[in-house]
Amino acid sequence: MTTIYLKPHKEESLRRFHPWVFSGAIAKVVLDASHKSPAPEEGELVCVRSSANEVLGVGHWQIGSIAVRILAFGVENLPADFWNERIRAAYQVRESLGLTPNHQSPITNHQYNDTYRLVHGEGDFLPGLIVDVYADTAVVQAHSIGMHRSRQQIAKAIITEVPQVQNVYYKSDDTLPFKAPIEGDKIGYLITNDQSPITNDEDFWSSENGLQFRIDWLRGQKTGFFIDQRENRALVERYAKDKDVLNMFCYTGGFSLYALRGGAKTVDSVDVSQKAIDLVNVNVARNFPNDPRHHAYAADAFDFLSEKITNHKSQITNYDLIILDPPAFAKHRDAVKNALRGYQRINAKAIEMIRPGGILFTFSCSQAVDKEAFRLAVFSAAAQVGRKVRILHQLHQPQDHPINIYHPEGEYLKGLVLYVE
Ligand code: SAH
Repeated sequence: MTTIYLKPHKEESLRRFHPWVFSGAIAKVVLDASHKSPAPEEGELVCVRSSANEVLGVGHWQIGSIAVRILAFGVENLPADFWNERIRAAYQVRESLGLTPNHQSPITNHQYNDTYRLVHGEGDFLPGLIVDVYADTAVVQAHSIGMHRSRQQIAKAIITEVPQVQNVYYKSDDTLPFKAPIEGDKIGYLITNDQSPITNDEDFWSSENGLQFRIDWLRGQKTGFFIDQRENRALVERYAKDKDVLNMFCYTGGFSLYALRGGAKTVDSVDVSQKAIDLVNVNVARNFPNDPRHHAYAADAFDFLSEKITNHKSQITNYDLIILDPPAFAKHRDAVKNALRGYQRINAKAIEMIRPGGILFTFSCSQAVDKEAFRLAVFSAAAQVGRKVRILHQLHQPQDHPINIYHPEGEYLKGLVLYVE
C-alpha cells in the first residue's frame, strides 16, 4: 500500500481523531510497487505515518487541499469487516433513537417512521459518504472518489446490516469531485430485490412521523427529500393550531404537512420550482384529501413577499406563522458576505409582514455561515424593521445527522424560532 509521511508535528490533529490530512502537511509519498503512475490514484487506500514512522491510520487519497480522509485510525489496513461494522454501528444509533420502523420509542411518539439518515459522513466516521433510507430503499451518495470506488461493498453492507432495506440506489452525479476521470456509473441501482423489482419510482412513498411523502430520488434534489428538518417540523406542528401559516422554500412540503396536522387555519406553500409545487400538492392530497386549507404557489420568495406587502397595504402583517428554509446561500467561504445579506433581506421581509404575536421559524443550512453569524444577520433584520423580537428556540440538525466531536465542521443546520410582538 502507498504510504504518506507527514511533516514533523503535523500528526497532532490526527492524534485527536480529526479525519482530514491537508496536502500541506505531507512530507513525502512512497508509492507501492504496483503503481504505473507517478502519484497515488484518486480514491485509493493509503496508509498515513508520522515523521517518526508511527502508523496514524488508513484512508482514501484525494486530489485537492484535503489529501486524505481517514477511515480508520491507528491501523495500517482496513479491518476485513470494516464496512459492515461501520454500517451496523450507524444503524444501531438510529434504532436507539426510535427512527427505524416498528420501533416503539418515546422520542417519536409511536408514530410510524421509516425515513432517516443512516450515514452522515464524518458524523458517522465515514468521511465522504451519505446514506438516506426511505422505506425499503437506501439512497447512497458519495462525496469522494474513495467512497465511489467502495460503493459495491457499501451497498452489500447496507443490505446485510439494515433489516428493512431491499434496494440500494446510487446517486452521485452532483456530488463527486471532478478532478479525475472515474470508472463506473455515477447513478443507478447497486442492488435490487428480485422478488419485487422497482418499476415505478413515480409512486414510491416513505413515512416520516406518521406522515407520508412521495420520494423521487431519481429526479429530486439531494437524495430526494430533506430528512434534516424532521424534528423542526414536529415543532412547527406544536405551534400551528388556528394559525395562518406560510411555508416559504417548501420543496416537497414537509413543514406544510406538519402544520396541517397541527390544526393550522390555512397553509400557503411557496417554492420557485414548479416540480416541487406539484409534489407538495401530491403529498397534501395523500395525507389530507380535499383539504381546503392548503394552497401552493410556484414563485420567487422575494417577489412573493414583496407582492404580499404591496397588495395588502392596509394589513401588511398577514401570517401568524412563517417558515423560512432557504437553500444554502453560501456554498463556499468566499460567498459568506453575500449570503449574510441574503439572510438579512429575506428575514426582514418576513419580520415586516408577520402579524403581531407571530412566530417565525428561520433557518440556514450553509455550513460556511456559523450560528453566531446567522444570528447576527437575523438580528440585523429585526433591527432594520424595528419590531420587538424574542428568541424562543435555537434549532439545529437532528440526531441522525450527528456531529463527530473531533470534526466540528460537521455542524451545518441552524435555526431560530422568533416571537414577533
Ligand atoms: N423546507 C424544505 C427544504 C428546502 S430546500 C423541506 O422541508 O423539505 C430549498 C428550496 O428552496 C428548494 O426547493 C428550492 O427550489 C427553493 N428555492 C430556491 N431559490 C428560491 C427562491 N428564490 N424562491 C423560492 N424558492 C426557492
